[in-house]
Amino acid sequence: MSTLRFQALFEAQNRKPVVFEDSTNRSQLFGENVFNKQSMRQYMTPEAFESVMNAMEYGHKIERKVADQVASAMKSWALNKGATHYTHWFQPLTGSTAEKHDAFLDMLPNGEALEKFDGAQLVQQEPDASSFPSGGIRNTFEARGYTAWDPTSPAFIYGTALCIPTIFVSYTGEALDNKTPLLKSLQAVDDAATQVAKYFDKNVTKVISTLGWEQEYFLIDAALANSRPDISLTGRSLIGHSPAKGQQLDDHYFGSIPSRALNFMRELELESLKLGIPVKTRHNEVAPNQFELAPIYEEANLAVDHNSLLMDIMGKIAEKHNFCVLFHEKPFAGINGSGKHNNWSLATSTGVNLLSPGKTPMKNLQFLTFFINTIKAVHDYEELLRSGIASAGNDHRLGANEAPPAIISVFIGKQLSDVLDELENITKGKLSPEEKTDLKLNVVGKIPEILLDNTDRNRTSPFAFTGNKFEFRAVGSSANCATPMMILNAIVAKQLIYFKEQVDKLIEEKDMKKDDAIFNILREYIKVSKKIRFEGDGYSKAWEDEAEKRGLSNHKTTPQALKAKVAKKTIQLFESLKIMNKVEILARHEIELDEYTLKIQIEGRVIGDLARNHIIPTAIRYQNTLIKNVKGLKNIFGDDFKTIAEEQLMLIKDISHHISQINSKITFMTDERKKANKIEESEKRAFAYCKNVKPYFEEIRYHCDKLEVLVDDELWPMTKFRELLFTR
Ligand code: ADP
Ligand code: MG
Repeated sequence: MSTLRFQALFEAQNRKPVVFEDSTNRSQLFGENVFNKQSMRQYMTPEAFESVMNAMEYGHKIERKVADQVASAMKSWALNKGATHYTHWFQPLTGSTAEKHDAFLDMLPNGEALEKFDGAQLVQQEPDASSFPSGGIRNTFEARGYTAWDPTSPAFIYGTALCIPTIFVSYTGEALDNKTPLLKSLQAVDDAATQVAKYFDKNVTKVISTLGWEQEYFLIDAALANSRPDISLTGRSLIGHSPAKGQQLDDHYFGSIPSRALNFMRELELESLKLGIPVKTRHNEVAPNQFELAPIYEEANLAVDHNSLLMDIMGKIAEKHNFCVLFHEKPFAGINGSGKHNNWSLATSTGVNLLSPGKTPMKNLQFLTFFINTIKAVHDYEELLRSGIASAGNDHRLGANEAPPAIISVFIGKQLSDVLDELENITKGKLSPEEKTDLKLNVVGKIPEILLDNTDRNRTSPFAFTGNKFEFRAVGSSANCATPMMILNAIVAKQLIYFKEQVDKLIEEKDMKKDDAIFNILREYIKVSKKIRFEGDGYSKAWEDEAEKRGLSNHKTTPQALKAKVAKKTIQLFESLKIMNKVEILARHEIELDEYTLKIQIEGRVIGDLARNHIIPTAIRYQNTLIKNVKGLKNIFGDDFKTIAEEQLMLIKDISHHISQINSKITFMTDERKKANKIEESEKRAFAYCKNVKPYFEEIRYHCDKLEVLVDDELWPMTKFRELLFTR
């Protein structure tokens, strides 16, 4: 009897739910643990408050003296709320968050103790950073990187620690985190978009990028998840036969939320709200035990911090409720995987969503400008955008076992396609007054103010316009949104700069009116970026063929997709916008390749261990039972036993076949791993893992899964999919 599995099942089935009632008014709790404007005003001098506001809005520097005041206010606020420690909170290139707690405690020379936290400690820290990935930027011997306060994301109390969001850079100034390039891309898109927005409204002083993410995840009973070495070590199951009932009936999606999960969600939401994360929507997803959570959108930097923080909180609250939360993009073969839709838009300081059509033709021309420029940016940098969502986990979704495809395309819906078709046909050069009136009234003027038409939604598109924002759907559920958002903002910034240059040139050199010039350039963009637009079924084979004809990329694996990150065009883009320099770009590429290699390497080891040390011995044990049975039958029936024991004999043979297949394939896989490990160069090594090691996973799994349905359930050591997915 396989004790671990049965113990876990016993535990899971006898769980008493951890009940969490919450009747508190949610808006009152909101931001309770955040050093937000309200608390700042209460605790800070007007001078310090003003200074922080200016830093938040316009990136102004905060004087050292003022930083001391801010620190002192933060300390008083935090101590009042029961905090005992403080930490710089940052997002190194491991993908998760990092913190190192220091007590507020300090000693005076006379031995007296006091609580201390000053400007120096607020503004800059030196975590012992030698173990964070740096892609060779920092030699480990001079391992010091430093963290620096990001005043645009407010400090918060998490547990008993005051957390201060920071960037993380090396001593020579290179970014070692996800936030630094993101902040720079936000600055770039602000500069570029503000200039363009001024064509339509002189009062615009700033443009922010907005992000509303939708987080999908699985909730698995902790005992069951822990009984599976593959889930504990890699976050996904590496073997396991599909259950008889999976998601065929579509009965989970939007169904009533199981009460255990609901208790978890309630507590999670409450904690999130206290931390200022405006969580709003919760529902069941397509797969059994799969769920989604979405907040109200926020400024992108804050939204990214909030998503990282939320993922951390989710793990902790899940533990309290005896759940294990899985963020992996494909935890169970044959069952839907998880993504993290990134809803993105641009908004002006005057409160206008630049991707929302308006009441007047002028507002709509503004909308079309940003809309078409975004499409053009995606067209020009589709490979880079694809590279921004590449990971070992997401490879299982993009173009593999599940959609969306690895091909980047833009869906805009019928109404807007018609508008673009009409715009494309306007005359080149100056427009006649009649043509202009017609255009304004009948084309631009006809875009309805509200485009949120739910019947016209294409769920198969990786990048879809959804009425007042673009939804980047191909982002993986475990990803940090910073990278895809940094890339998107950067390419749009670059495009808008180019657009402004072109429009201004027509105005100056061709003596065109502003609208004429804008129409002319937009018409060109519609023409040249046509191949990126696709309205059909993105999951179909026909689209793959069509995309290939169009010359769109279709990179199905991470090492292949990552090439775009170091392409000449990419380096030019990031350098020209001052987002990253070449050293930083190359370092990141190296880190991502190594991360990929390590993940596949770990998966390879785990599957080898499972198959050889768990599955094969179990199969042999069962086979021995069969052999004993056949021998017994022979004793009883003599020569007739062959017909009587026909099935058993077949089973014995089948089991032997699967065992030998598993064994030889593990040997081959291990040999390939050894070969790959000898390769010095990161990219080549990643490709070797991808092409020579990974393909064995499926083959080994195939035979393990066959054994799962042959071997006595009582003996099977691995908790089965039906148990993982249907225990509530
Ligand atoms: P769905 O896409 O599931 O139909 P919604 O359209 O309501 O749902 O929005 C999904 C997400 O898009 C939410 O997180 C929401 O906050 C976000 N969102 C809405 N408007 C914007 C915007 N202007 N910028 C960024 N995100 C937005
Ligand atoms: Mg959505």
